[in-house]
Amino acid sequence: MNPSNALSRLAATEAVICDLDGTLYLDGLPLPGAHDFLRAVLDSGRQLFYFTNNTSRSRRSYIEKLGRIRFPVCAEQIITAADCTFTYLRHHHLGPAIYLIGNNDLKREFEEAGFACWDEERCSRELPQAVVLGFDTELTYAKIRTGYELMVKGVPYIATHADLLCPVAGGRFIPDVGSFISLFATATGGSEPLVMGKPNRPAVEAICDRTGLPAEKIAFIGDRLYTDIRMAHKFGMVGVLVLSGETSREMAAASPDHPLMTVDSVADLIPHLERPRL
Ligand SMILES: [Mg+2]
Repeated sequence: MNPSNALSRLAATEAVICDLDGTLYLDGLPLPGAHDFLRAVLDSGRQLFYFTNNTSRSRRSYIEKLGRIRFPVCAEQIITAADCTFTYLRHHHLGPAIYLIGNNDLKREFEEAGFACWDEERCSRELPQAVVLGFDTELTYAKIRTGYELMVKGVPYIATHADLLCPVAGGRFIPDVGSFISLFATATGGSEPLVMGKPNRPAVEAICDRTGLPAEKIAFIGDRLYTDIRMAHKFGMVGVLVLSGETSREMAAASPDHPLMTVDSVADLIPHLERPRL
């Protein structure tokens, strides 16, 4: 798409959804221009949301984290892969009984959303309606064993997201849900989950639900080609790649995932947020 068409599509958006790590902050520190960009989004009258695939932290801990670095935030502005999972389970009448492989923060989120997280003992006697694999930083062998048993019995198997690694402070990474998916695929002889978070359809449905807008009225801004940009491109959102995170200009040029626009950082988008006059 030529640059002026991309700018007019961005100008016509009514909501901006931002990835967090590599897009608005790095190692927990706001990227230069991030505050001014967020202010400009709100001043333009657009809805503003933050989207993360990470399900090892609760909504509350994101509110605290974003509040600490003075980003404008309330609970409704945070969309996680857990939200995508709630939307999917409800639409498909799976629940309220589930077996969740996730830490206590995530378990609380599911319970607050109305799901009953059965324990290993109950699952050994009767089958829950779904087994949900989330980012479990408190994973135990008992959970792996129960998850495995439910999968081989054919209980619907859902993963909150499929990122292989999660970035942490100091430029390091820790194993994420995608790595756990490989473990279960090996153990079960090939069971694969339905994946909820970026870049999959349930994530887009959760975003459209929350904003009340069709995909083409939504800008998705992120730094990762195979999640952020792939989802935006595939489902018709206005995808903007920022080069402030994990992607270089060379990587973008060689990728099959094409953003509508590429900028060095969110600060470069500020002049383009003015909305067309009717
Ligand atoms: Mg990112």
